[in-house]
Amino acid sequence: MSAHPVAGNGRRRPLIRLACTCVVYSAAMRRRDFVSGLGAGVLAAAGIPACSKQQAGSDAVVGGKTYNWKMVTTWPPNFPGLGTGAAWLAKTIEAASGGRMRIRVYGGGELVPALEVFDAVAGGTAEMGHGAGYYWKGKSEAAQFFGAVPFGMEVIEVNGWLYHGGGLDLWREIYEPFGLVPFPAGNTGVQMGGWFNREINSVADLRGLKMRIPGLGGDVLRRAGGTPVLLAGGDVYTALETGAIDATEWVGPYNDLAFGLHQAARYYYYPGWHEPGSVLECIVNKRHWDELPEDLKSIVSTACQAANLEMFAEYTAFNQQALNTLVEEHKVEVRRFPDAVLKRLEELSREVLEDLAGRDEMVRRVYTSYKEFLEKAARWQSISELAYLHTRS
Ligand code: CA
Repeated sequence: MSAHPVAGNGRRRPLIRLACTCVVYSAAMRRRDFVSGLGAGVLAAAGIPACSKQQAGSDAVVGGKTYNWKMVTTWPPNFPGLGTGAAWLAKTIEAASGGRMRIRVYGGGELVPALEVFDAVAGGTAEMGHGAGYYWKGKSEAAQFFGAVPFGMEVIEVNGWLYHGGGLDLWREIYEPFGLVPFPAGNTGVQMGGWFNREINSVADLRGLKMRIPGLGGDVLRRAGGTPVLLAGGDVYTALETGAIDATEWVGPYNDLAFGLHQAARYYYYPGWHEPGSVLECIVNKRHWDELPEDLKSIVSTACQAANLEMFAEYTAFNQQALNTLVEEHKVEVRRFPDAVLKRLEELSREVLEDLAGRDEMVRRVYTSYKEFLEKAARWQSISELAYLHTRS
């Protein structure tokens, strides 16, 4: 793609005006740093011409305070998709800020235990964290809606709600009393239903099932007669392999293959009804956030948005490869949950959400917003994504 915008009459329009704008703003926004960090290709794809080094170098301000931050995460270090997503975000912020922000990433357990990320960032042990909202239901039940909602929105829909449907505003309101500023910073897409050592042929097979499944999905399993267990990712394999749990969900083929879960369970069920479009979050300690100059705030915010896209792209590219490996090399038996099981789980999911909304004012507000957006989105999805995917052979 050319960086030259095309005028309405088809002729190429000269770049003089845009190039000048770029130079004018570069001092205030340190645009040169932003441009060099993101790369001209990204800007060209967005229809924005990049400044040449000669243009930007004459008046761009470099220097100022350097921020050395720590990012604690709930993921094993550099774990595919999740850990690499957190590392990508840190690297992108450092590059886009021209090194004015340096972020050291810690895997779960390296600085603080994986499931203490929320407290660590709220308390200032680390300035930044990367995790998922459903891990923090003990802090706020409503936080779970910003992780995953059983039979809820998938990635396209949830991004629409968060960025343009009031979702992110509600999320900020919920984390504000904890002194945290949240950002969507990744999405796994539709997850798998999980690994089971027993067949699920009917709803009755869920009774007595001890399964690692966090958040609202866990509440639904409990209502179906099972026992949900919350374990951080690093503990999942051992629990399944030793029989401490009968089943586990984790993410999808890309992550599950890396954990070797196929060595500890027999059946791989789909779809991930409990996590149809899981959002990963970047959380920032509000006191440290408020200290950042406006341009760095913009860089962090934009990098999180880019990380949201990048992670989903990574999952899209590698899930299918890993699924082939699981099926072809490891002879994994992939099964679909029976329709009757999915139907019952959807009914129970609605009950769980309605009950929660009935006893928690903030959940009621979030659930109302979420449900209204989903209803509208579903109407459009049915004649766009869904109709198209059913049409494609
Ligand atoms: Ca999961």
